[in-house]
Amino acid sequence: MIYLDHAAATPVADKVLTAMKPYFAAEFFNPSSPYLPAKKVAAEYETTKGAIAHAIGAKASDIVITAGATEANNLAFTAAEGGILYLETEHDSVRRVAESLGGESIKVLPSGLVDLKDLREKITDETEMISISLANNELGTIQPLAEVAEIIRETKLDRMKRGIKKQLLLHSDASQALNLLDINVARLGVDLLTLNAAKVYGPKGVGALYVSHDARLHPLVAGGGQEKGLRSGTENVPGVIGFAVAIDEAKKHLKSNRAKYKEMRQILLSELADYELINRKHALDNFVVLCYDGLDAERLVFLLEAKEVYVATGAACAASKGVRSHVLSAIGLPESKIAGSLRLSLGELNDVDQIHTAARIINEVIKSEKDRIDG
Ligand code: PLP
Repeated sequence: MIYLDHAAATPVADKVLTAMKPYFAAEFFNPSSPYLPAKKVAAEYETTKGAIAHAIGAKASDIVITAGATEANNLAFTAAEGGILYLETEHDSVRRVAESLGGESIKVLPSGLVDLKDLREKITDETEMISISLANNELGTIQPLAEVAEIIRETKLDRMKRGIKKQLLLHSDASQALNLLDINVARLGVDLLTLNAAKVYGPKGVGALYVSHDARLHPLVAGGGQEKGLRSGTENVPGVIGFAVAIDEAKKHLKSNRAKYKEMRQILLSELADYELINRKHALDNFVVLCYDGLDAERLVFLLEAKEVYVATGAACAASKGVRSHVLSAIGLPESKIAGSLRLSLGELNDVDQIHTAARIINEVIKSEKDRIDG
């Protein structure tokens, strides 16, 4: 198999699995229980949360562990009562909540980058929260968050001068970025940051939300009061242990991963034929989005699957529902080009030899599709 869909899911790394294992069985205790072995697990859980937080320049008390990024994104929006702005290319777990709260979308440029002019125009005295992902999950586009944070800082200053007290928070979904970017909450200037273990060779259903002192959240579920009352439910100890190891590994290999994916991306771009590269600039090194105008990407996915090459047409959740990509549409691609677009996302399961093979197989499939259409 040649797996080119690491943006959808990553396999749990051996080191991660090894670290998690004891906490499923021997160290199974509920961290809230009063006896010593449970207290030991509770202490390890807190230390591990500290390690996760530390990796993004925060403290254990600044993060809330959630059951994945969807939940973290939903929790983030409890910080605002209204006045929400969100980027039109956000993942559905941001878009849907923001829409349900009456949020207004911010445009992207054809490059996929946030249209800062549109953002400036849409900020009003009522704006409470702005949500812009660090890296997009369909294009890999890395957003200039520091510039957004600067606009927010200027807005806050102006509000202060005019005696307006309304909060203005910056939320960012960093689910896709953790593998390739060195993330630091202070440097990014975010108040809320979503992390996702499932995209960094950690377990699925584990995520975290960084919450600055300025943000006041409300729980989505009521219960035993774990995670400072913000996320009740017995702690997912193995999940958190695994997440910490996964983040540590990602941090250690940031540079070498970037170099590796850059090389593989270049091989694809030079060996593939007859495509248009959609994410030419500002993208994570492991994202290659190709358009084969006039072809049906869903058929291509299916034909490539028959040759054990796994690629995507866009976000896995949208693809499974047969929904056209709102991201490709937002960057201005016409219907025919959206219909012919493939997302290849590179990762740990790939090596250079595989990439040469993948390019050859993709070229063969494209040629046979074109021959079929031309009759
Ligand atoms: N945000 C982004 C950018 C994603 O890519 C994903 C996963 O596809 C999610 C959120 C949702 O993550 P999960 O399904 O783990 O909750």
